[in-house]
Amino acid sequence: MGSSFGRSRADAEHGLYLSNGGTEVFLDVLALAACDLAASEWEVRFALLCCNSRIGGGNDGFDLDELPWGEAEWPVQREFLLRVVDTALGRHRWEVLGYDPPAALGYLRRYREVVRGYVPAPPLSSVVGWWEYERDEAHLRRCGRHGLFVGVFEDCRLCAG
Ligand SMILES: [Zn+2]
Repeated sequence: MGSSFGRSRADAEHGLYLSNGGTEVFLDVLALAACDLAASEWEVRFALLCCNSRIGGGNDGFDLDELPWGEAEWPVQREFLLRVVDTALGRHRWEVLGYDPPAALGYLRRYREVVRGYVPAPPLSSVVGWWEYERDEAHLRRCGRHGLFVGVFEDCRLCAG
């Protein structure tokens, strides 16, 4: 079993398909960038999605059409995703990872293409579960070792790893 990160379930052409191990790595490097860049509520929710999505949680991959794009804000929101990917491509804080992720660069380049050409168009899928759960401020505590939001598990994904 693995996970996919695409545009929509119907669009098999534009997707990143990863093993469970690859999925962990991909979400780790996205989380490191997203937690440092997130400012608006939408951006924080995306960072938390990366932090909360864990293998075995049954909710690790997601398609872009599962994100709640704003009717007017979506270009800014997509720009944020591209910034997250580009920041991760710069090996943002990879020194705190307990492993060497050379394959992640390939995942990120591929994902950049998935995001870059995406235009949200109804009907969108229902919103990915980790986006909508009720969160409180405790989820936004940053791990002292890795700097990630601890998220809903109140335990950073790299510490728990
Ligand atoms: Zn940690």
